Amino acid sequence: MRLILSKIAAVLALGLALAAHPAVAQTPAPLTILISIDAFRADYLDRGVTPNLSALAAGGARGVMRPSFPSKTFPNHYTLVTGLYPDHHGVVANNMTDEAIPGVRFSMGNTAAVLDRRWWDGAEPIWVTAERARIITATLFWPGSEAAIHGIWPRHWAHFEQALPSNLRVDMLLALLDAPPADRPKFATLYFDIVDGAGHSYGPDSPQVNNAASTVDAAIGRLEAGLKARGIAANLIVVSDHGMAATSPARSLYMDDLLPKEAYRSLDMGPIGTIYPTPGHEAQVETALVGAHPHLQCWLKKDIPARFHYGQNPRVAPIFCLPQTGWLLTTRDFHGQEAGDHGYDNMSPEMAAIFVASGPAFRHGVVVKPFVNVDIYPLLARLIGVAPQPNDGNLANLAPALAP
Ligand SMILES: [Zn+2]
Repeated sequence: MRLILSKIAAVLALGLALAAHPAVAQTPAPLTILISIDAFRADYLDRGVTPNLSALAAGGARGVMRPSFPSKTFPNHYTLVTGLYPDHHGVVANNMTDEAIPGVRFSMGNTAAVLDRRWWDGAEPIWVTAERARIITATLFWPGSEAAIHGIWPRHWAHFEQALPSNLRVDMLLALLDAPPADRPKFATLYFDIVDGAGHSYGPDSPQVNNAASTVDAAIGRLEAGLKARGIAANLIVVSDHGMAATSPARSLYMDDLLPKEAYRSLDMGPIGTIYPTPGHEAQVETALVGAHPHLQCWLKKDIPARFHYGQNPRVAPIFCLPQTGWLLTTRDFHGQEAGDHGYDNMSPEMAAIFVASGPAFRHGVVVKPFVNVDIYPLLARLIGVAPQPNDGNLANLAPALAP
């Protein structure tokens, strides 16, 4: 009992919102849990270091999932829960500005911006739709879930705590599943970020990535054991937001070689480049960047190829640059280069994400054809039992995974 109380105390200390909503009827649909393992590349599943995930895949459905472009964390997490390409939901980058929100630079580390619903209100995430339908939701972490999007939070949510170990994130969810029925979530998310951290620091082929994958796998095993102990049959959907490519200082593209610093500013460099020409320097910047280098493509936003579904949103930078996968756009005074990165062409094999789904809704031993992550949202809507909002996904692509 002491252990349970300490867990609950930890949950409350983390600011989990146990809001005083009126009691509501339970939906008959089983519990759905959406699990994101940040930067878990598709092929990690076959490295022999994730026995629980492998067993889930063998007993359910799996497949290669393409991220949306750009293959960055915030844009893709919002795509997963809205079914919209980043250009359509508005979280077009991890770092962005908006003339309608003057003086603010949105970034993952800008807590005030992350909590500001204006950055997220361009779409309605699945937990908002579910809460409107009186289905209780819990996000034990998900980008965007700390904001009251359209004025609505998940019933249970927590401020992101990067230091919180994977197992404790699972325990927070299990504690919620022990709540009185009127407070018990029917849709929940979990988010694990240590595979991404190891991939950035040590590269995708490092033992550190395998160790992190193994740790998250153990946490998923802990979740399964906790569900089993409670007699809960749940549909588990395990995804990642993107993969990871090995990078090297030998594959650097230096902006200094192309343009003087005063000609532009950039909110994002590395695997992508978001370029804002200094007023009066537009033609100079365009001439210097478009077609400048064999390992770098740059476009005016109106010319970004249609297959990226990107460039219509006002938040997209005027000039968007995309290095060849494994190359980095940088400056000579930047010394923070990492061993792995993502953000590249979403169809690069290195950017491929995982999809593993298991539970009463799914067939056993199915491998679905590669699909784009916009299709996860209509699947979630089906599993939770809500009408999907208009979206870019197509449930037919995942129909082979579903039990009759
Ligand atoms: Zn990520």
